[in-house]
Amino acid sequence: MALLRIRHYPEPVLKKVATPVTEFDDSLRQLAHDMAETMYAAPGIGLAAPQVGISKRLAIIDCSARDGESQLLFLVNPEIIDREGDCCEEEGCLSIPEYYAKVERSAKVKVRFQNLDEQTHVIEVEGLLAVACQHEIDHLDGILFVDHLSPLKRSLFRKKWKKIQEHMTEQM
Ligand SMILES: [Zn+2]
Repeated sequence: MALLRIRHYPEPVLKKVATPVTEFDDSLRQLAHDMAETMYAAPGIGLAAPQVGISKRLAIIDCSARDGESQLLFLVNPEIIDREGDCCEEEGCLSIPEYYAKVERSAKVKVRFQNLDEQTHVIEVEGLLAVACQHEIDHLDGILFVDHLSPLKRSLFRKKWKKIQEHMTEQM
């Protein structure tokens, strides 16, 4: 197990459309487990492979972390195949630390994905898990949550992000 370096906005790998996973081998399992360790250490509730510099369609989610009991989901080649309703919750991202904003999403989604053994599953989720699935699948398409903000909010974000980055550099 190893901690991976989380890439921050605006690193180019975060803007790339990730390629589908075709090899379900030990290196995929290793990557998935290293990502889990990295996510729990951060701490965060979701992490996509592009966030650790690997442009592959793999994401992990564990929304139960704060309750104690772990419910780790490994999503390989995930796709949203149905959506319903609207919601607007505050989101953050390990690639954009210290910045939070409300994002409009679907309230319920149906997600088709493969697990690490190449078996296909379909889950229907709502609430925080639905938001996390949409956020992580966006990462695989090179989309960050700030890309969903209005032009005005996005320009405010860029100003604030400059300050956050300056602050982070000072701390190093
Ligand atoms: Zn994110």
